[in-house]
Amino acid sequence: VKNLIAYDKTWQTKVADQAKEIIKRKIESNQNPPDCETASVCMTSYSGCGFGCKVHMFEWVMSLSLFLNKVIIFDNSSFGYTGNITNDPFKAISPYFTDGTVYSKTTGGDVIDEKFVYIHTKLRPRASGLKPRYTTVDFWSRLYSFHGNPKAWITGHHIRYILRPKPVMEDIIQKSEKNVNFSQPIVGIHIRRTDKLTMEGENARFISLQQYLPHVDQWYDKYDLSQRRKNITIPTERRIYLATDDPSVWEETKNNYPNQLYRLKGYKFFGFQNLARIASNLTSRSTLFGLLGVVVDVTMLSKCDAMVCSLSSEVANLAFELRQTQHLDASNDVIPLDLGYGYEFLVSRVHIAVYAHKAKVKATNETFDEIELMQGDILFTITNWWNGFFNGINERTGERGLYPTYKVK
Ligand code: GDP
Repeated sequence: VKNLIAYDKTWQTKVADQAKEIIKRKIESNQNPPDCETASVCMTSYSGCGFGCKVHMFEWVMSLSLFLNKVIIFDNSSFGYTGNITNDPFKAISPYFTDGTVYSKTTGGDVIDEKFVYIHTKLRPRASGLKPRYTTVDFWSRLYSFHGNPKAWITGHHIRYILRPKPVMEDIIQKSEKNVNFSQPIVGIHIRRTDKLTMEGENARFISLQQYLPHVDQWYDKYDLSQRRKNITIPTERRIYLATDDPSVWEETKNNYPNQLYRLKGYKFFGFQNLARIASNLTSRSTLFGLLGVVVDVTMLSKCDAMVCSLSSEVANLAFELRQTQHLDASNDVIPLDLGYGYEFLVSRVHIAVYAHKAKVKATNETFDEIELMQGDILFTITNWWNGFFNGINERTGERGLYPTYKVK
């Protein structure tokens, strides 16, 4: 059996490597056209939202450009952060089209013609359509042979290309790894608070550090069991990489330590508490953490052995997707404390209404209303709320909101 498992893993790794190569070749040939004069382009620009949200918008446009065989160009101010490092810490998405502004003549909406596509990134309604797919059915079935969530796998590989660090950023990441003494095993925790908890239309709620820890504890208990079987000394040092936008979480890890039991097990927290302290004196969140903090946190989370988070955050989704590029199949080692995988730009599946549904009036503590269903309606599902409801868009009415899981297939 052991040989069979090893054989299977070797085979799966080979299939995964081939699939990675196919994606890489597709992106590279798309982004490096033989004749720049005649190549048609797909341009997208900055829009005012957080890092995770922006990367997801770009990823959406990248899928579209790969599907349309147009070169994608992000304009220079794409990431819109100023702060402690250079404005543009990532490699140019297309080395031959470096000046995006030349192409951004059109504003105010999507424009599509033979040569040029301008994608306006404030594209909320875009979620009502499925992400364009340039890959074949055969390719997807190959992905299923080694991976539990091909959508996250492909998205992760696109994002990895978008976020190729320049040497200056690479250096910062490496130094940060050293600085936090990053070594495995380590479990990542992502705690998203601040503006996310108060912004209208958001579906996040406050989750205390105490609610995260039992999941980490369980992961280490299982890990110790597997080590014992290999006759390796246990207990393992219990390390946690803490990524957060809320500096006060660092105080929770010290002063208000949640539970004596965990203290006895010697949990150690790693991360950027110093950055968090500096940031707590500033007023604007985007300058406060800047691009540096969030890029480093997402990179570290992607490397951890497991991740406990709230997937209502796009940053957590981003880390989850990048995890898929770091491990053969990391689709199962995320422990989400609220929603399932998904966000506005990733319609995760399509449902068909089997029963009609009358929308109930919004309860005061809920951010979305229920929506109406008629038998046969098509729904683009964004997230699973794990409470009997999906959150999605009804194609017929254009309404977005919650609908009961048992009424659709
Ligand atoms: P969401 O609001 O969490 O769904 O994701 P967005 O991408 O829209 O915005 C999140 C913003 O919060 C980021 O741009 C960061 O400024 C900040 N942020 C969220 N999580 C982290 C984290 O783990 N570390 C740091 N440094 N900043 C974070």
